[in-house]
Amino acid sequence: MSTVRVLRTVKEVRAWKKKFQSIGLVPTMGALHEGHLELVQRSMAMNEKTLVSVFVNPSQFAPTEDLSTYPRTLEADLASLERFGSNVSVFHPPVSEMYPCGISTNIDEQIGAFVSVDGIGSKLEGQFRPHFFRGVSTVVTKLINICAPRYTYFGQKDVQQTVVVRRLVNDLFLPTEIVICPTVRESTGLAMSSRNIYMDDTTRFKVAPNIFKALCAAENRYREMAQTEESVSAQVIKEAGLKILEATPGIQIEYFEVSDPVTLDSLDTVSSAAKASQPQHPEQWTAIISTAITLPGRDRRVRLIDNVVL
Ligand code: AMP
Repeated sequence: MSTVRVLRTVKEVRAWKKKFQSIGLVPTMGALHEGHLELVQRSMAMNEKTLVSVFVNPSQFAPTEDLSTYPRTLEADLASLERFGSNVSVFHPPVSEMYPCGISTNIDEQIGAFVSVDGIGSKLEGQFRPHFFRGVSTVVTKLINICAPRYTYFGQKDVQQTVVVRRLVNDLFLPTEIVICPTVRESTGLAMSSRNIYMDDTTRFKVAPNIFKALCAAENRYREMAQTEESVSAQVIKEAGLKILEATPGIQIEYFEVSDPVTLDSLDTVSSAAKASQPQHPEQWTAIISTAITLPGRDRRVRLIDNVVL
């Protein structure tokens, strides 16, 4: 039995948070891995208390997606948080607490208040998962309103999500600051993800690592050319990555894009001038190279995303 405190209602969270000066919020859907724990670690260093939400949010899934089979591993999640001691608590609400009117994955049947970030939410991932960022923006707004965190932590792994939630927080004047943490990877370079378990070992360890290899090849092509050119053609950057993905059996590419880090518009060229030595936020990035692919899983195709920022 874990000793990590689990809060299940909005009322409980509000009573709990009153005692503390500064809360860090780490929103997750559970099935925690080292990528999530990196966010917790960062929050621990910056806040008196950290609240990790573990909530598989129905509104960000389409009816055809894996809501019912998404891994739910609360006991293991609590065990992995033990190492942080009593400064970490978990918010694990029932769906009815977060969606008092109920929630359908069919958007036409949804009732209640929802939040959309127009424009950037429909690019890249939004083309393939049209309601995804509306679901994410809605649940993140609810979580921030519930616990009023000083900082809220997101992984660069889901780079468009970081751009969308920063815009959400700015535009709606939500009283929190978004902190973006670097992507944590398996030893092969594959970005850690709760969905990696859907792959068999050959696919996970031999095929999927080519996603990051492709992104690195694209980044390297940019860096080489940026030494002598004022700007680099996005097409040339993409070709370096696509060459690897297209030569990998089993991988189907949904997109491989070079995008503006704030508007997420496709770029034709990328400036060679780096904006900061250790860029932390989209406004300081020069471009995002991001991709989504699918590959064969144990019982259905698995969709994976990854990115590098320039
Ligand atoms: P999820 O539970 O997949 O919704 O992810 C919760 C948070 O963890 C999001 O901010 C993700 O971007 C972040 N995250 C997931 N995987 C990683 C990773 N490999 N490295 C860093 N952050 C991650």
